[in-house]
Order: sequence, then structure tokens, then C-alpha cells
Amino acid sequence: MKINRNYLNLTENYLFSTVAAKTRTFQAEHPDKTLIKLSIGDVSRPLPAVVVQAMKRACKEMGQTKTFRGYGPELGYPWLRNAIVDFYHTQMQVELETDEIVVSDGAKSDLSNLLDIFDPTANVVMCDPVYPVYWDTNLMLGRTPQLLPATAENNFLPMPDTSIVADIIYLCNPANPTGVCYDRAQLKRWVDFAREHQAVILYDAAYTCFINDPDLPRSIYEIDGARECAIEICSFSKMAGFTGVRCGYTVVPKALKTMDGVSLNQLWRRRQTTKFNGVSYIVQRGAEAVFTPAGRQAVKQNIDYYRRNVRLICQTLERLQWPYVGGMHSPYVWVRCPAEYDAWQFFDKLLVQAGIVCTPGVGFGSAGKNYIRLTGFNSYTNTRRACRRLLDLSKDKI
Ligand SMILES: *Cc1c(COP(=O)(O)O)cnc(C)c1O
Repeated sequence: MKINRNYLNLTENYLFSTVAAKTRTFQAEHPDKTLIKLSIGDVSRPLPAVVVQAMKRACKEMGQTKTFRGYGPELGYPWLRNAIVDFYHTQMQVELETDEIVVSDGAKSDLSNLLDIFDPTANVVMCDPVYPVYWDTNLMLGRTPQLLPATAENNFLPMPDTSIVADIIYLCNPANPTGVCYDRAQLKRWVDFAREHQAVILYDAAYTCFINDPDLPRSIYEIDGARECAIEICSFSKMAGFTGVRCGYTVVPKALKTMDGVSLNQLWRRRQTTKFNGVSYIVQRGAEAVFTPAGRQAVKQNIDYYRRNVRLICQTLERLQWPYVGGMHSPYVWVRCPAEYDAWQFFDKLLVQAGIVCTPGVGFGSAGKNYIRLTGFNSYTNTRRACRRLLDLSKDKI
């Protein structure tokens, strides 16, 4: 059998399954201990009521002959795409066309599917540490991306330099796992670099809803020239609790063209209409409700809830004097392991001595070998309990 041998280059254990396995083993051996997961990369607040109502209504329509709908438009219903256009217009003063937006079942699929429209030999650049999907999907195609270390020296925000050879540049802003965020001037440098080198930026905006400063751009298209070089990948997952519902969208501007004038917007739409049959009507009605006043209000409440958790984690880290970044515009906090522990050693220590589950930074790349990632996605009660445990832990010497 002739398989895709590139799959054999993937590391065998996906980061989160190793964390889950270690956690399960510990819990089985210590059934009396209550573990608190600060490793969660998933939302925990339920869907906004207005979203649930919209989906219920849509469900009812689907059960009646007159209002039943079969296949929808592959690229998304116009009312949802228009709601997204309005959202960019009113919230970010970014003007998009309906045709520039393609609705999907989430950012993860789009991030990997987008690779279909690029040359297999394209040079790829991404940060280290990085969302593992970017790395693995390129390995599957036989590529070895160039890694830009995000370290304390560059404030965890790698900038373009002459060593970079890139046709495709991944930027996740605010970043998972470090929680840091590029500002306008920094993004401008990336946009200028991409244009100068005929590269495309795949801009993962999954956490844009966590940006807490009106001066920070919430879309790459707030940067001059970005329409000529960037694709923005967005998701309702972290914004509105859609991780289990599945909906996202990707913006491919019509101004994004190759040197010989081929439109990437057309390629992406061709790819999606051929290989994808669209997101369920019920889900798209739920996504549409996110943009209503009640939906926006509920989203804000949920984000504020997670923010309060993150703030508590950051305050605790400050008391412990454990250096960290992130947390300000992100649900993620990137913590330097104290006392020269490596990531898995510190993971084990937090698990065994404090009953806290974190994510070892090394799982996101070798630059994370002395870091762990904590998240604000648990409940406030559990987060508070975990923070107390951290303070207790530090009393007996680490
Ligand atoms: C959670 C997450 C996404 C969202 O993926 P979905 O498939 O839309 O749920 C995208 N990018 C990053 C970096 C994420 O952490």
C-alpha cells in the first residue's frame, strides 16, 4: 500500500492526550484528590440563550415541509455572511464584501484546508511555541516549516528579519499558547515584509475577542496593505462557546492576488464549493444570533468571566514571583517554570503536589521547554481554589 509517509513524521502522542493520560493515571491512584484543570483549551460557559433560541427555531423549521431546507450554499447563507460584514464595519471600520467571507465548520479545518490552494513546495514560517495544528498539517504535506523562537528576548513576539524565507507566514494574534499580542506597528512590519516577499499571512484571529485595548487591532485588515497579503481565519468557538457546535469563517480579500493576477479568493471558493457542502442551517442560525445585541451582550459577559479568572491567575503569579506573559488580551498565561524545572517536571510537580493540571509548554515546540500554559477557562470557584493551592505549594520550598 502506498500511504502518505509524511504522517510517519508526526510525533506519536498528541500533546493533550499525554496530559490526559497522565491525569487519568494520577486520579486512578489518588481517587480522594480533586484535580483542577488549568489546562483547558476549551470554553466552559454555556451557549448564550439567544443562540440556543435561534437554533431551536431553526430546528423547528427543518421539521416542517414549508420551511425545510436541504443543501445550503456551500460558502454560507448570505444573511450570516452579511452579519459578519456588518460586524467588521461597525466594530473595526473594516469594509469587506460578502463574497470575501466563507463560512465553515471552524478555524481548525480552514487552517489545514487552506494549504490546498498553495504550492506543495511553499516555504512556511511559524512561531515556536505554536498551535500544533499549523505544524502538523505542514508535516503531513512533507514540509518542514521554519520556526521563529518566541522567547523572553523578543518579548515572545518574533519579528521579520533577513533570515526568513517565506511563502506562507502563520500569525496567531493574540497568540496561543503564549497569550501575547502584536500591536499595530508590529503587525505593519509583518504586512510590509509579506508584501515585499510575495508571501501570504495566515492570520489566526480565534482569540481576537479577548483583546482588551481599543488601540490594538482586532483584524489584520486594520493594517494598511493587509488586503493584498493576508487571509484572516476566525471562529465562533472561543468567542461564543461554539467549540462543540462548530462554526467559523475565513476572510479572503479579493485584492489578494498572485503576481500573475490569480485571485486567492476564487481559489478558496472553488476549493470549498468542491470539497465542502456547507455548515448546517441550524448552526448558521445560531451563529447569526451571536451578532444581535443580546448575542453581543452575552458574549461580552462570558469573555469577562474568563478574564476575571485570568486576572486572578496573573495576580497569584505576581505574588509567587513566577515570571509570566499573556493573560492581558488572552485566556492564556505562559509561565516560566521556577527553579530550572523543565516543562514536564513542573507539570508532574503541579499535578502531584497541588492537584493542578497545566499544559507543558514543550508540547507547543522546543522553545516552550521551560514553560507551562495556564488558562482562564475553568470556573471562577475552581480557579480561585487552584490559585490558593499554588500559594500553599510555594510555602514549602519549590
Ligand atoms: C481554539 C483555536 C482555534 C479554533 O478552532 P475551531 O476549529 O474553530 O474550534 C483556532 N486557532 C487556535 C490557535 C485555537 O487555539
